[in-house]
Amino acid sequence: MSVTKHNWTKQEILDIYNKPLMELLYEAATIHRKNHDPNVVQVSTLLSIKTGGCSEDCGYCPQAARYHTNIEGNDLMTIQQVKAQALRAKSTGSSRVCMGAAWRNVKDGEEFDQVLEMVRTINKLDMEVCCTLGMITENQAQRLAEAGLYAYNHNLDSSEEYYKEVISTRGYQDRLDTIDNVRKTNVTVCSGGIIGMGENVEDRAGMLVALSTLNPQPESTPINALVAVEGTPLEDQKPVSIWEMIRMVATTRIVMPETQVRLSAGRTQMTREGQAMCFFAGANSIFAGDKLLTTPNPDVNEDMEMFKMLGLNPQKPFTKKVQPQTVEAAESQFEALGEKPKWTRPKHTIERNEAAKEKAKAVK
Ligand code: SF4
Repeated sequence: MSVTKHNWTKQEILDIYNKPLMELLYEAATIHRKNHDPNVVQVSTLLSIKTGGCSEDCGYCPQAARYHTNIEGNDLMTIQQVKAQALRAKSTGSSRVCMGAAWRNVKDGEEFDQVLEMVRTINKLDMEVCCTLGMITENQAQRLAEAGLYAYNHNLDSSEEYYKEVISTRGYQDRLDTIDNVRKTNVTVCSGGIIGMGENVEDRAGMLVALSTLNPQPESTPINALVAVEGTPLEDQKPVSIWEMIRMVATTRIVMPETQVRLSAGRTQMTREGQAMCFFAGANSIFAGDKLLTTPNPDVNEDMEMFKMLGLNPQKPFTKKVQPQTVEAAESQFEALGEKPKWTRPKHTIERNEAAKEKAKAVK
């Protein structure tokens, strides 16, 4: 095992990111082997349990109600629908189901109670359960933990500076506070970001400073390549090159040795050779399934063929941490508090977000 360092500076991270590629790959692969089985990759299935109609203005997201995109929205899925999808994911090699809802933050009430039941249902299928539901309070995190949640995803998206160029309706500190609320429970933290939104390399390093200086570091860090969706403010962004993705994965592996580094959105734009380089550089997790919330993803069979070709094996559930116990709703120690936390709304003007909103109004 490597010693985990929690005081990385931006310059140290930039020096790693900019190393000659072969040096970078060698260092990342060495650290990877010290901390993980290099032939094992954790497979998660991402399930959009409530799609579209979101009040936020995240510049990359087709689910924001204010932009005009071609996604089909849906209300919260039923527990039966979620169970059927989880069983399907299990039968195709996924050890984790990650349920995403297009919410700004969790609100106590019937819908959250239904999500808690979904968590109980999937944990009883002996699969790891993750949720990504927006900002949450400590009480809500405790209730998720009690239901048997294994991980909570809340991405920092980018550096604190560049975040302001992408989102104006929620603040960076709220992201950190939500992660902190999750940390007060035994639920693991999944937090990462997106490259290719127009940020510079300093911003990528800045995001890794924010993630790597968390103590403990997140157990899982998704590295997404932007999928530029028509109608969103970032629709014209050029795809990131595979070399940038490889450098980002390798740097993440070096600064967060024990974290599972997750290849996330943007895999359809990568060749198998490119993905293989990412696995060599320290990526050890993927999202499976033909859709990632609303954007395309490689077919499960294609992924299994790739695994076979590369000699990779899907990780068994609860390899890194024991399965949480599910407490039934009737025996719960944490009741809904009906809190109304004041999550911030910075509301500064982001020109391209405004332009996309105006364009959507014209179309509607
Ligand atoms: S990323 Fe999440 S919070 Fe932002 S618009 Fe999309 S669904 Fe809403």
